[in-house]
Amino acid sequence: MIPVQPAHERPRILVVDDQPANIQTLHQVLKGECDVSMATSGEQAIAYCQRRAPDLVLLDIVMPGIDGFEVCRRLKADPATRDIPVIFVTSRDSAEDEARGLDVGAVDFIAKPVSAPVVRARVRTHVALKRQADLLRSLAFNDGLTGVANRRWFDERLQVEWLRCRRNRQPLALIMIDLDQFKPYNDHYGHQAGDDCLRAVAAAMKSRLGRPGDLLARYGGEEFVCLLPETPLDGARQKADDLGEAVEALGMAHAHSSAADHVTISRGVAALVPGAEQSAAELVQRADEMLYEAKRSGRNRTCG
Ligand code: GH3
Ligand code: MG
Ligand code: MG
Repeated sequence: MIPVQPAHERPRILVVDDQPANIQTLHQVLKGECDVSMATSGEQAIAYCQRRAPDLVLLDIVMPGIDGFEVCRRLKADPATRDIPVIFVTSRDSAEDEARGLDVGAVDFIAKPVSAPVVRARVRTHVALKRQADLLRSLAFNDGLTGVANRRWFDERLQVEWLRCRRNRQPLALIMIDLDQFKPYNDHYGHQAGDDCLRAVAAAMKSRLGRPGDLLARYGGEEFVCLLPETPLDGARQKADDLGEAVEALGMAHAHSSAADHVTISRGVAALVPGAEQSAAELVQRADEMLYEAKRSGRNRTCG
């Protein structure tokens, strides 16, 4: 799930400066409307952002160790931190410095010594923009019905993980999942109950995913996919069985299924160490063929 910070929550701001007195000043200015955390070196700032993505970073340029420009560059290079807006707070106010700061990805500049109303106004503006951007990302990449990732996000992650596993010569596994006889379920229990069922099934499967890189997405209709980076076929088969159990454990009655008297899923599994001549579409196709096999041989099972 792409996270969204609820609009009513106090913004979390990280202030980075090697001079504690400067941090104190900004803390005084912002504490009325923000939760302010602090870091006194670039290294500390990066570690903090990776752990607890704040809404905004106020960043000094001149610091011992890695300087502000480099901190910003590294934050923008890491997918985990690149969406955190950075404002430079600095006494270096040459056009050259400003251009360099914007060039490495900062959204704004504030001159030292700071003016309290200017800092508050700019922080407000950039936090509001950041939250709008989060909301748009979330709407673009989450499935509205089930809350898990959508097909668009899956397609993006598939390409990224395919390339990463190819580079590291690691297997990439995919589970294709389809609810068994879901059309009769809808026909019998109604479309609303069908939607509730999809939500419950998605949540049950999601609860069985452990590793940070694992992804569950709604592929369309009553089909889901589970992407498992650095996972061999054997491990993926086990995970597929695990997802099947999770759905069965819901114990949702399905009086019109040939597979069981409750809601079940069929799973098709494939795993590949991506080769230079192959494309990710091959992995999807294999998993799809295995899903077809699972359907053909009686449903409520894993094939692959
Ligand atoms: P099989 O075991 O072979 O997969 O049988 P099936 O009935 O699940 O297969 P089919 O693909 O024919 O039916 C899929 C049905 O899923 C069609 C539609 O009624 C239902 N469905 C797809 N998307 C949604 C949705 O968003 N909400 C609800 N309630 N039903 C959906
Ligand atoms: Mg289907
Ligand atoms: Mg189906």
